[in-house]
Amino acid sequence: MNDSKSVKGSCLCGQITLTVKAFDRDVVACHCKQCRKQTGHFVAATRVDNDKLVIEGANSLTWFRASEDAERGFCSCCGSILFWRRDDSDKTSIMAGCFDGDTGLSIDRHIFVADKGDYYEINDGAKEFPQAD
Ligand SMILES: [Zn+2]
Ligand SMILES: [Zn+2]
Repeated sequence: MNDSKSVKGSCLCGQITLTVKAFDRDVVACHCKQCRKQTGHFVAATRVDNDKLVIEGANSLTWFRASEDAERGFCSCCGSILFWRRDDSDKTSIMAGCFDGDTGLSIDRHIFVADKGDYYEINDGAKEFPQAD
């Protein structure tokens, strides 16, 4: 992980930009049905403490509640999914694909592998968990 400098990211259209001052963890790949439906493939997300995250253009940010205890933030203009957050958590998961330039991150583990699609294999050597880790 690279936690020595800020990393910037954005949605596809650029209306929402974000700056991360420090990552809380490496990337977790989630193959659950919700993540697959929303992204068209699977989610790869890092995570930050909320006080290490600055979001600009949040008026374009829409939160969709796919489960009882969490919601997913996406750009209402271009549709990019950017965030996932659990209710009452002081951390926010951020889709790793939104960052510009190097992040210093790597995939730490795959979760909900039991729900993954049949059209791809997981073979990067990272740990795999059938459900949540
Ligand atoms: Zn956008
Ligand atoms: Zn998921």
